[in-house]
Amino acid sequence: MRKQIVAGNWKMNCDLAETDALLNDLKKQSIPDSTHVMVAPTYTNLQSAVRSLEDSSITVAAQNMHQSESGAFTGEISAAMLQSIGVDHVILGHSERRAYFGETNELLAEKVTTALNHNMKVIFCFGEELVDRQHGREFDVVKDQLKYGLFHVSESDWQHIILAYEPVWAIGTGETASPEQAQEMHAFIRKTLAENYSPSIAEEVSILYGGSVKPGNASEIFGKADVDGGLIGGASLDAESFTAIVNAFQ
Ligand code: PEP
Repeated sequence: MRKQIVAGNWKMNCDLAETDALLNDLKKQSIPDSTHVMVAPTYTNLQSAVRSLEDSSITVAAQNMHQSESGAFTGEISAAMLQSIGVDHVILGHSERRAYFGETNELLAEKVTTALNHNMKVIFCFGEELVDRQHGREFDVVKDQLKYGLFHVSESDWQHIILAYEPVWAIGTGETASPEQAQEMHAFIRKTLAENYSPSIAEEVSILYGGSVKPGNASEIFGKADVDGGLIGGASLDAESFTAIVNAFQ
């Protein structure tokens, strides 16, 4: 049985006081046991978020980490540092990291390996750009992102991986993939997994959709057979909107 997951990516938003306030608001909302909820505050607020959520079922994830164990990498954060403050989930490959910080599939493959070596859980993001879809190459792009960023992992590693399909043209734009477009791609991802690993791995991996999910469209998107939840940007910055999305599974 696949896990239903909704994760909020807070990006470079919310200072310490705002993070505390948002977490306090979230803790007042009702969250069903059937859904695994995560939030990813910025680095400086991870430790306080872990403390604030100690008695809650909500998990704290990091938005990124470096591929090396330690060393002269000014401004970077390692897997061990995250774990030392109680963070064992990390988002890797977000399209903003790929676009603004030059993260390639090959670099992401290294980050995935490091995270898994530290027994961390990876939320691996990928998705085509608008130009790819306009040229009908969205399936090839997605397949390559998976092949070169992720398909070096072993079969047993898959229990530590969550996929997040995020078409770049739908992130923060107000444009959403239609539920049918999301389902079509998610089914393709599962087929690709079955071909490269096994049908049972394909069946068990949770695949989240991300891209302008809001309370008004979440239920229809999450209602599709191969969509197991969402990675939420803008709408995760408001506790009520985020909880409405968390409760949108039919
Ligand atoms: C995201 O950044 O992962 C995202 C899905 O953003 P938004 O929900 O704002 O489109």
